[in-house]
Amino acid sequence: MIRLYDTMTREKRAFVPLNPQRITMYVCGPTVYGRAHIGNARPAVVFDTLARLIRHEFGEHSLVYARNVTDVDDKILASAEEEGVEPSVITERYERFYLEDMGALGVAPPDIAPHATQEIPAMIAMILALIAHGNAYEAEGHVLFSVPSDPDYGVLSKRDRESMVAGARVEVAPYKRDPTDFVLWKPSAEGVIGWDSPWGRGRPGWHLECSAMIERHLGETIDIHGGGLDLIFPHHENEIAQSRAAHDGKPLAQFWVHNGFVDMGAEKMSKSLGNIITPAELLAQGHKGETLRLALLSAHYRQPLAWTEDVVAQAKTNLDRLYRVAGDAEPGKVDSGVAEALQDDLNTPLALTRLMALEDPAVARASAALLGLLESSADDWFKGGADESAIEARIAERAEAKQNRDFATADRIRDELKAEGIVLEDSPNGTTWRRA
Ligand SMILES: [Zn+2]
Repeated sequence: MIRLYDTMTREKRAFVPLNPQRITMYVCGPTVYGRAHIGNARPAVVFDTLARLIRHEFGEHSLVYARNVTDVDDKILASAEEEGVEPSVITERYERFYLEDMGALGVAPPDIAPHATQEIPAMIAMILALIAHGNAYEAEGHVLFSVPSDPDYGVLSKRDRESMVAGARVEVAPYKRDPTDFVLWKPSAEGVIGWDSPWGRGRPGWHLECSAMIERHLGETIDIHGGGLDLIFPHHENEIAQSRAAHDGKPLAQFWVHNGFVDMGAEKMSKSLGNIITPAELLAQGHKGETLRLALLSAHYRQPLAWTEDVVAQAKTNLDRLYRVAGDAEPGKVDSGVAEALQDDLNTPLALTRLMALEDPAVARASAALLGLLESSADDWFKGGADESAIEARIAERAEAKQNRDFATADRIRDELKAEGIVLEDSPNGTTWRRA
């Protein structure tokens, strides 16, 4: 029996899916305008591990896991303008990097990866329903969700109205009836990406995207909704308000699961603080993806994780030991102690302690797999220094770009590798690389 902590009720409860044959999980995915950092990688690894556990408990085909891609957003538009390219150039590039980086950490792609730009009709339909129910209104080309129309607003974050009004950004928005109202749709200026709608040409607000995609791909009430702690307010609060208003008050999710931050020193790792480390940089420094994955799982997912060299070094030592124990054994049975630790609100630190104590190679390999670890052979683990496959993949990508006479892309890949300390040397026989 899996038990999960639910942010909504602030308690750990037995996880009983609505339909054990089709368990539904949605996790808010990346906004693709820059390279993911280790803090961004934490939810990807945590929910990948939860997905593995659910499949272990309920069956390989029991789970439908959706993670969206936000591919229309003001930050994307700003970065497209800065580079003088179409927004799709930015979003395709960084989505590809995201999948590569998460793949290196052993994160399997989700079952469904809906893209905001492909879901506009579903979003417009949801806005129409919200207007019809008296929960949204049009004003000056915008459509806003009326927060005072929802008596339960604040139910997830437990904020009261006074603090939300005080916290509402003091920006001049004369079209808002209430300071806490939030945007469902906004107008796009000439030359800016947009779609035709009953309210003129425009684009959706970020919160709406998740509610519309969940309804379309998973249903009105899902089993698990996940994301980082920073999404509780306002993003998840707004998702709840939209979905419940559109679905006659039905709950959006049975369980709200939130992971803690990755800290750098005393601060949260964040792009705006400029203290980020990316998986790509760490891989280029010679760390392996599995080491980074184990480091990310070394703290309980709800606790903050302090990212230090020691955490990474300890993860490497532990993996060396695990590979020595497991050798090249075929996976056997999963150890019940490891499984029980994970069943208890994904207690990965306890699961890792129990994993390290195992002595049977077949059991060690199967139990590690439940955490997404020991995915290579012991030979490969002890042989390779760097995560060479990631570098080789990018060299191959560059060769293909050159073949297509896309020299801009080829140069960009060379420059990116250089920035990560990898120097390429071209010769008539192909490209070799070395660390700078
Ligand atoms: Zn979301």
